[in-house]
Formats: sequence, structure tokens, C-alpha cells
Amino acid sequence: VRNSSMRIRRWLTDFCYPAQVKRVNFNAWMFTAAMPRIALAAIFSIMAGLAVFALWQTMTASDQVDKERASVAINAMVLSHVQRLEIYTAEQAISDDIAEALYGQKGIAPSVIEYLSEQSLGDDHDIAFAFDGAMQQKFAVASGAVEETNFAQKFTTEIEQLRAQITETADCVGAVVWTQTGPRMLTVARVRPVTEGQLGQIAKSNPAYIAMSKPLSAETVAHIGKSLGIDNITVTAADKTTPSLESAALAQQAGKQAIFVHWQPAQPGRLALRRSLPPILAVLLGGVALVILISHMIGKLLSAALRDTLSHLPNRRSLELRIAHETSKSATAELALIDLDGFKRINDNHGHQIGDQTIKYIANLLISHSPPNATVSRLGGDEFAIFVAGSDNKTSLAHAIETFQKALSKPVSVGDVQFHLSATAGIASVGRSKNNSVQELLVKCDRALGVAKAIKRGKFVVYDAVLAREFDEQAELAKQVASALDAGLLDVHFQPLACADTGHIIAAEALLRWDERAGIKAGPEQVVAAAEAHGLGMQLTLDVMRQACTHASRWPDVIIAVNITPTQFLDPELANAIVSILSETKLSKDRLELEVTESIAIADESVFQQQFERLHALGIGLALDDFGSGYASIGFLRRFPFTKLKIDKSLVDESLVSAGCRDMLIACVAAARALSIKTVAEGIETDRHRDITRAAGCDLLQGYYIAKPLRHCAFEVFLNGPENKAVKHCG
Ligand code: C2E
Ligand code: MG
Ligand code: MG
Repeated sequence: VRNSSMRIRRWLTDFCYPAQVKRVNFNAWMFTAAMPRIALAAIFSIMAGLAVFALWQTMTASDQVDKERASVAINAMVLSHVQRLEIYTAEQAISDDIAEALYGQKGIAPSVIEYLSEQSLGDDHDIAFAFDGAMQQKFAVASGAVEETNFAQKFTTEIEQLRAQITETADCVGAVVWTQTGPRMLTVARVRPVTEGQLGQIAKSNPAYIAMSKPLSAETVAHIGKSLGIDNITVTAADKTTPSLESAALAQQAGKQAIFVHWQPAQPGRLALRRSLPPILAVLLGGVALVILISHMIGKLLSAALRDTLSHLPNRRSLELRIAHETSKSATAELALIDLDGFKRINDNHGHQIGDQTIKYIANLLISHSPPNATVSRLGGDEFAIFVAGSDNKTSLAHAIETFQKALSKPVSVGDVQFHLSATAGIASVGRSKNNSVQELLVKCDRALGVAKAIKRGKFVVYDAVLAREFDEQAELAKQVASALDAGLLDVHFQPLACADTGHIIAAEALLRWDERAGIKAGPEQVVAAAEAHGLGMQLTLDVMRQACTHASRWPDVIIAVNITPTQFLDPELANAIVSILSETKLSKDRLELEVTESIAIADESVFQQQFERLHALGIGLALDDFGSGYASIGFLRRFPFTKLKIDKSLVDESLVSAGCRDMLIACVAAARALSIKTVAEGIETDRHRDITRAAGCDLLQGYYIAKPLRHCAFEVFLNGPENKAVKHCG
């Protein structure tokens, strides 16, 4: 059973996803692709069912109407035959001869009997008999002769029923009665003389009756059927003779035995349905075909909505659905977010075709290194994810990422091009809990990735309790920063940058500090990271800039450098904000410099270029900070002519102990000079630091050896000190 269910699942998923994607998202497909199809099929089935039901109802209703009409018509025709006999009987009953015979003293005249006998040979009746109020038969004739049979006794029940219906206005009544020889019409009429008189009085007070009967023959019934266009009419004493015939009780009947009329129903509804069946079937089949077509199209559209068109992997939406589904089952779940390092450069250097092929290559590499039950997705750009649900083995994804990163450490060959590529990853997991959510897992994983990108490029970071605590502390710190900013407790210190040759102070770096009352103990790097993570980064930077520019307006000739993070640097609103601060503080544009760390080198180059050019055009200086600690290259400097290059303290320190690092320092300074970029050596603490950087050709020096970061008043004193005043110019 399990094998067949697996096969069905695979077949269903292949319906949505191409076969080359090995690990597909069945559950996401079930929820988003199958449901609309099932709903569509259900709506169609209900509508088709309702249509068939309506047709069936119409058909049975029309057959029922036909049955009722046929019953009414047959009864009417039978009644007309009975009425004919009634009329004839009434004609005979209103006669002086018969009244004299039944009420008078002379007795029954032979001529009357003779006359009735003669009549009983013809069409009108075959039996006639007379009787008094006490049901005593007076005479009887049948088929042309006097009859001894006591008909009054034979038809007692029937006559009693009919006699009860005789009123002042209705002298004669009739009905169909059942006899041993079949159905008969029987009429009873009160006898009265034509002329009123004594006999008339007797007729009223003690009436006698004349009754006539005639068989309701098969010929008569057949004739009725013919005139009505109804087949197979029969009159019997049985309710239902055959299932194919319709039947109804005869309306005008008398006696103990019930009488029914039967006929072949025309069934116009059934006939109409039979005739219109081919077009109805065609419409139904067309509907089914349409449903299949629309459902297929829905499947295609939804699978496109859930799939990345380039790699054919499930996309972000699909991943979120999968996570939501798995976490709703309280299953354990593990997620790895993978980000390619420097993928942008591959696109820029080798073109988008190679970039696309690289994405496909990475997709396959991830699939081949991920656990068998994992879902590999592409979230967009150079971001991928691996998701595993229901696994208790916490190290499964870490191991997969490790082997993937190892495989990626070899040069990648795509088309004719070979290059190096690395990927950074963040891993997070959630345990068995009802409260797990998609967002929780994604946020944790995103945080781990963020940390990995910041401090462990090319490696991975697992979101654990330590990291969780750090994030909590960061959130707490961000709160402190927000209230300190509101309370105006921001402070800025200034560290001088001295000319390497003359020692003259030509610039100062504004560094973030806090008033003691703010209670913030964390260093500026931590504060900036926390503020940025909680949406306060730009506000903090602009507040520092405003304070720095305000103080700097009192220090002519000193360039003021303000630090800015890569994210803020790329903000399109930055230039406008700077312009308004400069006009507010009345500081000229050429006295402001922005310091951006060299991690900016991995940003989107086109966005960076736009911003770089915008600020350059405004005349604002741009310094590349912490050069030599990581990402930027001389090639990057060549493309973007920064005004200053700040060589990181680590390179300066190592130059003291390593000849190789010293050569690197010299080469960096030489390259910057060739590009007309001034160099600043950071972290100058000793004579030896000063000497080695001066010898390497650095233009400016910054460090505790010159001065520590100072409060604005202390900086002012330092600036106006005798040593600084003595020196006039700096190269
Ligand atoms: P940075 O931009 O490289 O600034 C220089 C850092 O080196 C400062 O640390 C400074 O106090 C320290 N420093 C200067 N001379 C010496 C020395 O001789 N020896 C040693 N050991 N350290 C020296 P600080 O003020 O702690 O700032 C650290 C980093 O925080 C800065 O590095 C900068 O990246 C960031 N930062 C500081 N203020 C701001 C700010 O307002 N905005 C932003 N975005 N970042 C800031
Ligand atoms: Mg700096
Ligand atoms: Mg620096």
C-alpha cells in the first residue's frame, strides 16, 4: 500500500513539476494546486447533477400531467356513455303508461312490457326492470323477452347507492357496476307521469323506479381509446394489471366491487428526454472536457507560481507553504538559507547567461548534497534554501551544508569560464511544538545567515541559544538607543588625523559616544548593528552627522569624517538628508567626508555606483575604511576613485612583525597614490607604527599616538595647541 501511495504521490507531483527536480514539494502542491482543481470538479459535478435532476423532474412532471389528463379524458368519455343511457332511461321513466302501470290500479299493461322488450334488443339497453320503493321487482325484460330474474335483488347494493343520489332535480342517475360478465352501465330513474294528478302525488310520496343496464363492452372501450388517441384501454376490477400500463379508479361507479380503468401511457416526458439525450450527453462530455482543460491550466499556472523558472526548484512561496504545512503538524523542522558570495560579480564579469548556468549548477549541487527527504528551493537571486521536516537528527543539514561548501571550494566550470565561488549559510531548527510558525523559522534562519555573512563568509552559522541571547541583547540595546536618542543623550567624540610629514591636524573622525546618563555600555560597533537591525540606523547616523557638523563649523580647515554603514550608504534618501544637514549647520560640502567600510565592495555595483556618483557630484569626500581587513581590492578602488583610503589597524600592526605584510602595506599605498587617493594609516599607537607607515608613504596618521577620540571641547584645545599651530602646511 505504501509503495502504491508513494507512486501516486510521485505521479501527482510530476504532473506539476518537471521530472528532473528530484525533491519536490508534494504538500505545497496538494494545498495550492489540487484544491482549486478539486473545487472546480466539485462545482461542475454539482451543477451537472442539478441539471440532470431538473431534467428528470421535468420529465416525471410532464408524464404525471399526461397521466392525469388521460384519466380525466377516459372518465369523461365513459361518463358520456353512462349519460346517454341516463337520458334514455329518464325518457322512459317520465311516461303516463309506465306511471299508470306502477302506481295505478290497472296493473302493468302488456304493451309497455312489449315496447321495452323490443327496445332491449337494440343499442340502448339490454336489460330493463321496474321496482317499487321496497325494492320489489315489478317486471323485467332482457334481450327482447320478459325475464324472470330478479334484477332488483341482484343489483340491490348498486341500486341503493344510485337511488340515494336521486333528488328533486336529478330524477335519473347512473354509474358503471361490476358483474360476472364484466363492466356494465346501470341507470336508475324515478317513474312519474307526464301529467300531474293523483299518480303524480303517489310518484312523489311513494316512488317506484325503472332501471336500465347495458354492458360497457370491449368494443365501446376500444372506441373510447381510439377517439382519445390512447392505446390499450381496458376496464377491470383489478387495480394494476401490468407495470407498463397506467391505471386509475373509474370516477363514476357503484357497487361493492371497485372498478379501474387501464391504459398505455404516452409518457411524453420520457419521450422528449430520449430524443434530447444525444445533445445533453454532448454538452456533459463537453463540460467534462472543459473542466479537465481548465484544471490542467490551473495546475500549470499554479505550478509556475510555485516554481522557479530558471532552476525548476520550488520557489519562496512554495517553501513557505511547505514549512507552514509541516510546522502545523508539530513536526520538527530544519531550514538552511544559503547565499552565494560575490555572485553579482560573476554576472557582471561573465554575463547573465553564465550567471544563469551557475544558478542551475548550484541548484544541482545543492540537490546532490542535501538529505533524501529535503526540499531544495530557490528563493530568488543567489539565495537558496534546504528544508527538512520530521528529522530528529539536528546535524543533518549542517553536514549537508558542510559537504556542499567543500564541493564548492573547487573551481567552478560553467561553459568556457572557470571561477571560484563560495556560499554562506545560516541554519535554524524548530522542535516538536504546536506554536511553531513559518515566520519564526525564517527569522531565526535569516539571523543566523546575517551573522554568518558578517563574520563567517563562506561558512555557516547555526542559530543556537547563544545567538538567540545575543539577538535578545541586541533588541534590548536597540531599545536603550531609541530612548537615549529621544532624550538627546547622544555624544560625539573626535579623533584627529594628522599629516604624516608635519603632524598638522587636517581632519577629524567623528565617533559615536553616549552621555553617561544613557547607561549604554556597548561599543559603537555593537550599537550601530543593533540600531540598524531595529530600523534606527539612519536616524543614528544623521544625528551623529548633525552634531559633528555643528561642532566642525567652528573649526575652519578641518575635514570632518562621519562613519556610515554600507546599508545606509546605499539609501537613495541619503544625499538629500546630507544636503539639508549641511545647510542647517552651514558647513561647506567639501569639509564633510563619509567613511564606509570596505564590505561595501560586495554590494550591488550598479546601485553603489549611482550613489557614489551622486555624492561625488555634491563634492562630499568618500573614504574607504578598514582597507585590508577583508573584501575590497585595488581593482575596486580603480573603478571608484575614493578620496581617502584608510588602512586597517590589523595591517599596520602586522607590518611590524611580517616583511610580507610590510610589502603589502607599501604596495597598497603605492597603488592608492597612483590613483591619486590619499592614504590614512589607522591605529598608530607607537613610534614604530608611525615610522613604518611614514616610510611606506602614508599621507595621514590616526591613532592613540596622535590623540585618542576627544570630546569636542578637548578636541578644540588640542587643535589650538602650540604644536599644531606651529605647523602650517601638510602635503
Ligand atoms: P573606525 O571607523 O575604524 O574607527 C576607528 C576606531 O579605532 C575607533 O573605535 C577608534 O577609537 C579606534 N582607534 C583609533 N585609534 C586607535 C588606536 O591607536 N588603537 C586602537 N586600539 N584603537 C584605535 P571606536 O570609536 O570604538 O569605533 C569602532 C568602530 O565603530 C569604528 O571603526 C566605526 O566603524 C564604528 N563607528 C563609530 N562611530 C560610528 C558612527 O557614528 N556611525 C557608524 N556607522 N559607525 C561608527
Ligand atoms: Mg571610520
Ligand atoms: Mg577604520
